[in-house]
Amino acid sequence: MNSNNVSSFQETSYTDDKFHEECGVVGIWAKSDAASLAALGLHALQHRGQEASGIVTFDGENFHTHKGLGLVGEVFADPQVIANLPGKYAIGHNRYATTGATQLRNVQPLYADFEFGGLAVAHNGNLTNTDILRRSLVRRGCLFQSSTDSEIFIHLIAISLYTSVVDRFIDALKQVQGAYSLVAIAKDLMIAARDPLGVRPLILGKLAPTDGKEAWVVASETCALSSMGAEFVRNIEPGEIIIINEDGIQSLKPFSATHSRFCIFEYVYFARPDSILENKAVYIARKNIGRELALESAVEADVVVPVPDSGVPSAMGYAEASGLPFELGIIRSHYIGRTFIEPTDQIRHLGVKMKHATNRSVLENKRVVLIDDSIVRGTTSRKIVEMVRAAGAKEVHLRIASPPTKHSCYYGIDTPTQEKLLAHTNSIEEMRDLIGADSLAFISCDGLYRALDEKERNNAQPQYCDACFTGDYPIPLSDCISNLQVKAKVKA
Ligand code: SF4
Repeated sequence: MNSNNVSSFQETSYTDDKFHEECGVVGIWAKSDAASLAALGLHALQHRGQEASGIVTFDGENFHTHKGLGLVGEVFADPQVIANLPGKYAIGHNRYATTGATQLRNVQPLYADFEFGGLAVAHNGNLTNTDILRRSLVRRGCLFQSSTDSEIFIHLIAISLYTSVVDRFIDALKQVQGAYSLVAIAKDLMIAARDPLGVRPLILGKLAPTDGKEAWVVASETCALSSMGAEFVRNIEPGEIIIINEDGIQSLKPFSATHSRFCIFEYVYFARPDSILENKAVYIARKNIGRELALESAVEADVVVPVPDSGVPSAMGYAEASGLPFELGIIRSHYIGRTFIEPTDQIRHLGVKMKHATNRSVLENKRVVLIDDSIVRGTTSRKIVEMVRAAGAKEVHLRIASPPTKHSCYYGIDTPTQEKLLAHTNSIEEMRDLIGADSLAFISCDGLYRALDEKERNNAQPQYCDACFTGDYPIPLSDCISNLQVKAKVKA
């Protein structure tokens, strides 16, 4: 066992013990009340970012912006806020901070005035050559207003020698590395773009036409469409740039064709279960993961219990495949306000209990299979196992609907540093011991791929990004390498 184990189990806020999706984006083209629609879309995408939210609209002459810290329902609670965002064109953004602190200046969409007029950008993902580009841009006189990597796009567009907005945009995209699903709005067009590997999702939808003119929607996930009254049209493809203007839609593919690497963790945890991602229903995928898990790690037990909410579909699949009853042995409170997100030290240790309560009528004297989506630091898992035992369970067998998360994500998901990931420093048996379960098993990487209708992981050309499980990073981590080189130089 690694000596880091003790620090792995130091108390953390219970909200820290999950990977967090970084952002959600929406765009509305040619619809009155565009700001209201964008707010509805952002509300449906709230699970992708809960720290801040913003909308920029264009009314044909001027851009209007409102951004704030908090949930969408809080930032846009006052009807006057939406009334102050006129126009038929809008983009919006939900933020969960991974780069840059949660300060208003880091909240997106980012807006700037260029020689061609105004442009606002909303970004989901994370760039991996930010530091390198930022140093070079600062040397060239660019003044950064925020500490978010997304501002890189603004400066690259500003200094581009191309004349058209679209050419400048493409010029900027060709210089960045990393994951991005972007939506941008200028005075006569909207742009939606996905990085060449399509790591983060982005979809195109359609609204009912207004005055005979087509109205379009871009969003991170399909779950945003129904809340806006829009229909799904198609996925925006990896490496595709879509231009929407008065003349309709144009698709550009400025990058050489490559094999896509969509984030497999979107299916495990990040996406809303009613979304369809890359033509696969997230809910079905999660049930399939549970089935595979049951086939791989069956155990003698009396009942299958999910850690809600994210463990529910996998637990249903596990119960179906194992023939064991599915029961709600843990009840999740949906009423924890933001007041409790940063609890005082005095009540910090109660975090898990504030969020989850055990249902003794299901657990008492039972051998329980407990299903969760992932283990990050392990602090929440340990507390939940303790709570299930305290409610009378005879045995607790923990089954995890993802392989061990051994590596950090650099592509737009907030993760602890590698050393703080329980699976990075411990064997499965050591993790079981620390968590206090009677047995512990994770789905295998091939099992996860089978749940997504693949025969197995194609090791020569993996079908998904699975770097947090395998360490196989599909996009170069240029900043990490460059920073290590700088440190080595300083030491020398
Ligand atoms: Fe998704 Fe993990 Fe890849 Fe990050 S490293 S994009 S979380 S699969």
